[in-house]
Amino acid sequence: MATRSIAIDGPAGAGKSTLAKSLAKELGFLYVDTGAIYRTVGLYAEKCGKDAGNPQEVVPLLKEISLRLTHEADGMQHMYLQGEDVTEEIRQNRVSRYASQVSAMPEVRAFLLEMQRSLAREHNVVMDGRDIGTVVLPQADLKIFLTASAQQRAKRRHGELSMNGGHVPFQQVLEEILVRDEVDRTREIAPLYQAEDAVLLDTSELNLEESLQAMRSMVKESLHL
Ligand code: C5P
Repeated sequence: MATRSIAIDGPAGAGKSTLAKSLAKELGFLYVDTGAIYRTVGLYAEKCGKDAGNPQEVVPLLKEISLRLTHEADGMQHMYLQGEDVTEEIRQNRVSRYASQVSAMPEVRAFLLEMQRSLAREHNVVMDGRDIGTVVLPQADLKIFLTASAQQRAKRRHGELSMNGGHVPFQQVLEEILVRDEVDRTREIAPLYQAEDAVLLDTSELNLEESLQAMRSMVKESLHL
């Protein structure tokens, strides 16, 4: 039977993962966080003592890296690197930068493409990232481009980091978000942009429930669910 897919793209801190996770749960779809996969590759570069920004050091690692993505009974996605559960480790702030660096390398993107597509072939998915509607799942049933003001996004990201025990000053989070967005938007391969057939949802003035409600309406219209 054909599977259904919902692609959610947008800049860092727009609320993609929280909203995508909730939506997936409501629909009984699998939630796939593709940023976590890039984070795991970035973390591996660090663990191997390599420079995550240098393709000559990162690309050879693809031959030996063992990446596994699993879903627990509650739908929570776990990432395994060389057999070790790194789900929490990849959320650390420095890993965001490594992820952004490795994700600009065509070899890394090509390596991860099939892994993402096969998940969507096998399951109904809500998949979030930067290039899901444009590259990974161009035939998705619904594409949402989720955004919010930089201030709002930094506020959310800062809250998230604090909850995970990280103590990064707000101003630093804001600056890092702006830099990461700029890098993601201007890279040559799979840059972050809104697909022509994606619906824009700006959550700057919306709370979680309001954002979710807006997404439910989009799902109803596009997937007739
Ligand atoms: O979504 P998250 O912030 O965890 O992603 C970390 C980084 O991984 C992003 O800044 C982006 O550079 C990269 N990424 C990507 N394509 C995706 C998902 C994430 O390039 N589909």
